[in-house]
Amino acid sequence: MMAGYLLARAGVGVMVLEKHSDFNRDFRGDTIHPSTLELMHELGLLDEFLKLPHQEFARLRGIFNGHIAAIADFSRLATHCKFIAFMPQWDFLNFFASKANAFPSFALHMQHEVVDLIVEGDRVVGVRAKTPDGERDFRADLVIGADGRHAITHTRAGFEIQELGVPIDVLWMHISKRDGDPEQLFGFFRHGKLLVLINRDQYYQAGFVIPKGGIETAKERGLPALHKEIVALAPFLKDRIAELDDWSKIKL
Ligand SMILES: Cc1cc2nc3c(=O)[nH]c(=O)nc-3n(C[C@H](O)[C@H](O)[C@H](O)COP(=O)(O)OP(=O)(O)OC[C@H]3O[C@@H](n4cnc5c(N)ncnc54)[C@H](O)[C@@H]3O)c2cc1C
Repeated sequence: MMAGYLLARAGVGVMVLEKHSDFNRDFRGDTIHPSTLELMHELGLLDEFLKLPHQEFARLRGIFNGHIAAIADFSRLATHCKFIAFMPQWDFLNFFASKANAFPSFALHMQHEVVDLIVEGDRVVGVRAKTPDGERDFRADLVIGADGRHAITHTRAGFEIQELGVPIDVLWMHISKRDGDPEQLFGFFRHGKLLVLINRDQYYQAGFVIPKGGIETAKERGLPALHKEIVALAPFLKDRIAELDDWSKIKL
């Protein structure tokens, strides 16, 4: 989306193909970093962007084995925004989509799933996509594969994936908020465990860090064991942890 925006801004004809019908994926963090906000400033989009609902934090605090400690201080950065902004990723992407759509040379096609590359000689000259109207070919001078972690463009182009060996997975879930909950808390660390709570006004987007590939073990141990681990990190969630009564409410 960002490459599409920048190309369209420079007057280059660009099509972005997105397989889903929206950008509402829930499982990602919501942090927009000061460096990203600085880029928005350089693009002349910052003021408008900051009109979208978001929260600003100049400092982040965590709870380490029950003790509150500062984990980040953005207040002295040499950037326009001396804070981190929290905003769901779909608001961020929808904002860019609307800005890009204002350029006549930009087109965003939702529900267009790339299923193959079109190769002529030794060049990629386009993509084949499943669309609501059937399969279609899209030809282009330049094809950018930005289709995420299971990228079909990488596989079809024969690129070798370099695994960086991230040792963790994150279980994401919604946990309701209540009056009187602690303000401005972000990370809960205890005996090597980590719980992240992102305040989305009506609820917390909670991320519980587990070892890579550990979801099957977590499922074998069962939901009550998971509840117990989360409550051990953030005891104020005890009165509502039972909301997580099915694994379908927990996304990897
Ligand atoms: C758990 C988690 C938390 C994160 N938290 C943060 C955070 O707080 N702040 C931050 O800045 N970054 C965060 N990141 C990183 C950030 O999400 C990624 O760096 C960023 O999303 C990568 O962008 P991308 O465009 O390369 O891929 P993606 O965001 O994965 O986008 C790929 C897009 O391509 C679409 N697509 C996939 N296959 C096809 C296909 N065949 N045809 C058409 N479309 C297709 C997908 O639907 C998707 O919309 C987080 C990542 C994870 C996994």
